[in-house]
Amino acid sequence: MEKEDPEYFNKVYELLKQNINGNNGIKKCRFCDQSEPTVGFNTRAHIIPELLGRNNRITADECDTCNTRIFSAYESHLATFFRPYFTMLGVEGKKSVPVFQSRSIGGDNLTTTTIEYTNEGHRKIVIGNENDIQIDDKNKTLIVTFRLPNHKPIFVYKALLKIAMSLLPKNDVIEHKHIIEFLRKKENNFILGFQFPIVFITVLGKKFASPGAHLYRAKIESEPDGYIPKYTLVISFGNIVAQIFIPPSISYLLQNKPKDKTAVLNLFHSFIYNINYEKIKELDDNELINVQYKFSSINLSSSISKPYDIKLYFKYDSLEKH
Ligand SMILES: [Zn+2]
Repeated sequence: MEKEDPEYFNKVYELLKQNINGNNGIKKCRFCDQSEPTVGFNTRAHIIPELLGRNNRITADECDTCNTRIFSAYESHLATFFRPYFTMLGVEGKKSVPVFQSRSIGGDNLTTTTIEYTNEGHRKIVIGNENDIQIDDKNKTLIVTFRLPNHKPIFVYKALLKIAMSLLPKNDVIEHKHIIEFLRKKENNFILGFQFPIVFITVLGKKFASPGAHLYRAKIESEPDGYIPKYTLVISFGNIVAQIFIPPSISYLLQNKPKDKTAVLNLFHSFIYNINYEKIKELDDNELINVQYKFSSINLSSSISKPYDIKLYFKYDSLEKH
């Protein structure tokens, strides 16, 4: 396999320095443009939802109304979406590792599969539907179909996009007003072109001590027939890294026709080298490395609230059957 450049993502994108907590003078909400005292700023508005783990990443320019009446609604969808990962990987949310319960079939509770992460770090699986679990003994892989309860994928995307909008530099907010409007509106049609309501998810071998959210900005201008998203968001929690690409600015949309361009999506290096990135940097140029693309890409464009199934693969060392 050809050796890929592990620095490639860093050649295209740079991490934005964040100094979002500084807020002198009258507080103004970046999402609704209202200032105090018209709107209050009394709730602690998290940049990274606490359901992804306890953290102190607070934003000063999100009012109580936007925080509690609009954005909090998206977070429960985000929680539903990520719950299988939390339970299987033992990721602690705000309180503890959540128990996963699949939806029942025809209202019969006995058809529910329950997965619990025990204090000893084991998973206790009570199978309600034998199709939920496949065991591949030869490859020591457990394939679990998580029958998720009802949720709207587009709300999962909105919850992620909102994290990005909180991290956006203040002077670039005006250029992304259409995205903020999309986040604030109940309607979910977002047909402006260059939209990628897709989340890329990969699972790493090690855990992050606390959740993180980083916004990267492209250093490279889009080419005549190729479009490089200006911003991409990378979030990390537990041993999960997830990435989304932010739709383009208003100026870009006014000047370009989406259908004439091909999108170039550069994935963060964790997706390509699902192994120790530092180690790769020390390798000799001629040394071949095994490039692994181990990630899932999940389309979040649907605004229909319905049950969705997610299939995840887990390697195991030992399995006790009862
Ligand atoms: Zn507001």
